[in-house]
Amino acid sequence: MRVYLDNAATTPLDKEVFDAMAPFMLEHYGNPSSIHSHGREVRSAIEKARRTVATLLNTSPAEIFFTSGGTEADNAAIRCTCRSLGIKHAVTTKLEHHAVLHTMELLAQQEGVKVDYLHHDERGNLDLEHLEELLASQPQTLVSVMHANNEIGNLNDVEAIAAICKKYNAVFHSDTVQTMGHYRHDVQKLGANFIVGSAHKFHGPKGVGFLYSDAGIKIQPLIQGGAQERNMRGGTENVYGIIGLAKALEIAYRDMEEHATYIQGLKDRMIYKLQEQMDEVSFNGMSEFGDKSLYTVLNVSLPASDINEMLLFSLDINKISASGGSACSSGANTGSHVLRALDIDPARGSVRFSFSKYNTPEEIDFAAETLAQMYKKVLA
Ligand code: PLP
Repeated sequence: MRVYLDNAATTPLDKEVFDAMAPFMLEHYGNPSSIHSHGREVRSAIEKARRTVATLLNTSPAEIFFTSGGTEADNAAIRCTCRSLGIKHAVTTKLEHHAVLHTMELLAQQEGVKVDYLHHDERGNLDLEHLEELLASQPQTLVSVMHANNEIGNLNDVEAIAAICKKYNAVFHSDTVQTMGHYRHDVQKLGANFIVGSAHKFHGPKGVGFLYSDAGIKIQPLIQGGAQERNMRGGTENVYGIIGLAKALEIAYRDMEEHATYIQGLKDRMIYKLQEQMDEVSFNGMSEFGDKSLYTVLNVSLPASDINEMLLFSLDINKISASGGSACSSGANTGSHVLRALDIDPARGSVRFSFSKYNTPEEIDFAAETLAQMYKKVLA
């Protein structure tokens, strides 16, 4: 058995999604900007996909822009808002994905934007009073706080943050990459000005995502070129990617409750099995607390041991694909900026298991047992 427990990095493509995409690779190849019938049929499919996404998110198609993924959508929201509105103050957290963190750092270096980071506790819970203080003293701010953390799974109260932003007239972007397709997003209720999605996180294809952009905030395009995406993003559209994204989101919403219950069950089983077999196991962030954490992510904290340095390699040799944090970080805690920000004991090991609808209870049992055996050997 080879077990894939790295679904926060990427998910396998759903066969239904592939079937929806395939005709747009082979048969419907027209350029959607062409005015002839080959082009028009593809244009019409893209606009149908946009309507699907907009309807699922309870917004208008005019507020949905397709991008190359979550990173581009985050970049567009942050850079274009600061540039277009002349914003010189931003508030974010040290726990964001690099798509946000590095963009903020660059804006600070190159464009003189002052970036403040919200306080948080040792489990990554954000201090929203600090947000109020920062916004009260600095009007004209862009706030960027993720909905759920990709490494430790913490769910932030986006509606509460949006309400604070509204009170102080701040623009609010939320990186919703890890919750899109796993929770129902209603942009009217959520209150964020920008949210994003990335298809490969919900069984769609890689290299395609979208930005929801509040029509009330006029931003300039991130990528200059042709008139695609209503002048907001030059470049011929990733047609089959867009078709796949819409199909994947449709399936995710169709089956959401069933899959959420099933996946939460897998996560609970993993927690139980690990606690049953390992004395010193604990969990980073809020990942063991049901409603405070993504049901797809469990970040496990392991006893101090020499094998921690090689933990992910050892798991891989034992036929388990997991990760130390974000897809690019190594097995040691020092590889994760999120775990570093939480100030956790660097001697302990950490591994992120992330689950999908395709995992089985047998796979969970195998992974928990394998991990427990690995530590039993070295700690005996
Ligand atoms: N934001 C978060 C929270 C993520 O987890 C990821 C991907 O890991 C991204 C942004 C980037 O998305 P993409 O891979 O589509 O560029």
